[in-house]
Amino acid sequence: MSTVQGRLRIAVQKSGRLADRSLDLVRDAGLRVIKGNNDLLYRVENYPIDLLRVRDDDIPTFVADGVCDLGIVGENVLEEGRNGGANAEVVMPLGFGRCTLKLAVPPTLDYAGPMSLNGKRIATSYPRILQRYLDAEGVKADIVVMRGAVEVAPRLKLASAICDLVSTGATLEANGLDARETVFESQAVLIRSPSGPEPALANLLESIVERMSGVVSSQG
Ligand code: ATP
Ligand code: ZN
Repeated sequence: MSTVQGRLRIAVQKSGRLADRSLDLVRDAGLRVIKGNNDLLYRVENYPIDLLRVRDDDIPTFVADGVCDLGIVGENVLEEGRNGGANAEVVMPLGFGRCTLKLAVPPTLDYAGPMSLNGKRIATSYPRILQRYLDAEGVKADIVVMRGAVEVAPRLKLASAICDLVSTGATLEANGLDARETVFESQAVLIRSPSGPEPALANLLESIVERMSGVVSSQG
């Protein structure tokens, strides 16, 4: 039984690049969201649904474990968190939060393809996605994990190259880095728990998914 107290739970990013659009989608699907007594939980007044507002990194696990029934998260975060256990299921792409995980190098690095990174150090916040890419390309490189400010790594000589999320490319340009390879294309996705909600909430969940799907296709 996944949901407590007879209410569905939807996990959304509390603040950050996906937060506003996630809330918009929920509202456009007809859910009237009101702030609860605390910041972590928003309530929906016209359905037995709560929004759990958390760090995006926590969303895949909450949904995989059935702590939340649905979630809105970047594919990049979902993919990085994949493991051997039960995973959240992707319901549909949502058409916002688009970005690309790219390999970028300073102009001083003589770049002629992924093999130019053989034996080099690469800084990233996405070590698993990067490792998979490097394995597929047959490149042996050291990965340095940085939680933020990845783009400064080459200047500080922490790494020869970086693998980072890019949307406009302005950050790379500001740091004198050239994007070279696309490692992963991402956008926000709706995910659902593999275990499903308690039986009494199953129909509600399906109808919410249906409405969200309608909102997304109308925006297509
Ligand atoms: P949190 O505090 O929730 O952990 P965060 O700092 O990890 O937030 P944000 O920067 O808010 O995350 O980005 C959330 C998601 O937005 C990313 O995981 C990605 O899917 C998407 N995104 C879209 N464009 C960009 C971009 N230019 N840079 C980084 N992420 C982007
Ligand atoms: Zn995060």
